[in-house]
Amino acid sequence: MDEYTEFLRARRAEIIARMDAALRRSGRGREGVTLVAVSKTVDVDSVRDAIRCGYRVFGENRPQELARKMGALAESGELAGVRFDMIGNLQTNKVNAVLGRAELIHSIGSTHLARAVSDRARRRIESGELAVPADVLLEVNVSGESTKAGYSPDELHRELDEVMELSGIRVRGLMTMAPRGDEDVARRTFAGLRALADELAGSYPPGTFQELSCGMSEDFEVALEEGSTLIRLGRVVFDPAFALQ
Ligand SMILES: *Cc1c(COP(=O)(O)O)cnc(C)c1O
Repeated sequence: MDEYTEFLRARRAEIIARMDAALRRSGRGREGVTLVAVSKTVDVDSVRDAIRCGYRVFGENRPQELARKMGALAESGELAGVRFDMIGNLQTNKVNAVLGRAELIHSIGSTHLARAVSDRARRRIESGELAVPADVLLEVNVSGESTKAGYSPDELHRELDEVMELSGIRVRGLMTMAPRGDEDVARRTFAGLRALADELAGSYPPGTFQELSCGMSEDFEVALEEGSTLIRLGRVVFDPAFALQ
């Protein structure tokens, strides 16, 4: 085993121990929690190494890159049992690269985009290229930072009925990003996301707000304590220079 694969393996064990400890602190089990290894900064060979170390779920923030990596893994017979999610800003003209490839789109931050994804998915379902609607999360700007993408909580309240009626998508939950560098602010952001999901859950079919995608390299333990079901980890997984605190 080469040095980088050894690093990935040791780091993975450390991450899982941290996850388990955070889940234990909040009285949760490992079931229903998914670690998404964000592979946007590494090449497909590093993804191969990560698969060998046990990672099965990857996240990409660019449609073309998601398609390229999945294509390369399919070609070498390594895609079986491996899933890719779309986690980043998605433009309406790139939706087709993601449909039928990404298992879950985390980053639907506007009704305009939701409609675009739904329309394209419906067309593909009609033509038999796609079996089921696209699973999506709605991205919410809980912290209110002006640089963050996503629905404001008010917008989400106003537009959710319209989004729920789109037949080409299936809403599975919410996603957010916390401001960097302050654990208390991160905790408030994640708790706010969960409160919003709990509040909305009563008015929609069971399971609609089951998933909470929040927590990155610097704040995944806090996110798990606050109810995250999908943590999206990039640097802590792939970057030897990133030190776990
Ligand atoms: C890059 C990225 C991540 C991973 O960030 P790290 O801090 O490297 O863990 C998670 N989510 C999104 C949307 C990203 O773009």
